[in-house]
Amino acid sequence: MTCYNCQKEIQEGSRYCYHCGAAQKPLTPPRPARPLRRSRANKVVAGVCGGLAEYFELDAVLVRLVWALVTLFSGIVGGAIAYVICWIVIPYREEESAYPVPASR
Ligand SMILES: [Zn+2]
Repeated sequence: MTCYNCQKEIQEGSRYCYHCGAAQKPLTPPRPARPLRRSRANKVVAGVCGGLAEYFELDAVLVRLVWALVTLFSGIVGGAIAYVICWIVIPYREEESAYPVPASR
């Protein structure tokens, strides 16, 4: 890895740069690796919004609301096509309880 401050090569996983002493920020935020999957539990149409909500740890209702608003403001067709693309591209989650489902309200 390279120091974000001085761009010199430092040991992988170092917390401080031994060239300039700058504290290294982790490149990826520490979150458990979870695949983007359509939700079986949180589904209304195809589980796309529920799956996105689980992936980004958001409220599924909020994701649906934002998606609906974006769809409305983009003239419906854009959001509908995006939904269908997600429907096709994102596979269903294999296991029902691969990771905890956020409480839906
Ligand atoms: Zn440095």
